[in-house]
Amino acid sequence: MQKFKCDCCGLCCRHIDRSPLSKDLDSGDGVCKFLDTEKNLCKIYKNRPDFCNVEVGYKKYFSKLYTEEEYLNLNYESCRKLKLEHQKEKVSAPYLYQAAQTPSTETIQGPTACKG
Ligand code: SF4
Ligand code: SF4
Repeated sequence: MQKFKCDCCGLCCRHIDRSPLSKDLDSGDGVCKFLDTEKNLCKIYKNRPDFCNVEVGYKKYFSKLYTEEEYLNLNYESCRKLKLEHQKEKVSAPYLYQAAQTPSTETIQGPTACKG
């Protein structure tokens, strides 16, 4: 599989209640209990759940449902929608707006915030 390109905005880790796979990580407000919200980094990155890693999660959960290309595109589409949502919420969520507007050039594996 092509390496998934993540800009480490962390928005997916702040909305884990949207997926049945990850909702058990919810700290109560949709934010993952393993996200360092100040640094915007995953505190358990090396041991994060399989569904937090695009390549591993694909093999484990989705390979019978989608081609690799379809699955990558679905993930990119989810990222795009999250970023758009938070652009619209920039007044009430300035931190998230800033995160969505300042992508780094770093590319990592996983649908998630980068390692802490
Ligand atoms: S990558 Fe880490 S912070 Fe993000 S949802 Fe997974 S466990 Fe939580
Ligand atoms: S996978 Fe998550 S952290 Fe990476 S770009 Fe998409 S929403 Fe941001």
